[in-house]
Amino acid sequence: MLDKKKIKEKLEKERDVLLEQLRDMGKLNTDTGEWEATPEEMDQPETDQNDMADRFEDFEKRSSMMKVLEPRLNNILRAIKGINRESFGMCEVCKKPIEMARMEANPAARTCKKHLEN
Ligand SMILES: [Zn+2]
Repeated sequence: MLDKKKIKEKLEKERDVLLEQLRDMGKLNTDTGEWEATPEEMDQPETDQNDMADRFEDFEKRSSMMKVLEPRLNNILRAIKGINRESFGMCEVCKKPIEMARMEANPAARTCKKHLEN
């Protein structure tokens, strides 16, 4: 049997870490429900060309980081929502229980090792 309480705790902890990282880099657009990178605060009014380039690069980096983090967060949120369902911990492809070790490593897993997509 899966220890759902423990899994939930782990999921919530992971969610909080992800939220913190996302908040560091951007903000949630309440209209679209999507996270968007925000440019770094301008702390100095005088900026030279290099500064601007650095800032742009930084913004690009944030954006791509957030594109990785956001689906991960959504996956975790979905897992937390579905944790009390009977289908929780079952592979979405073959409907068999997901390996315990895999669930422990990744509680938001939706498929067994055999049907692992990535
Ligand atoms: Zn499977």
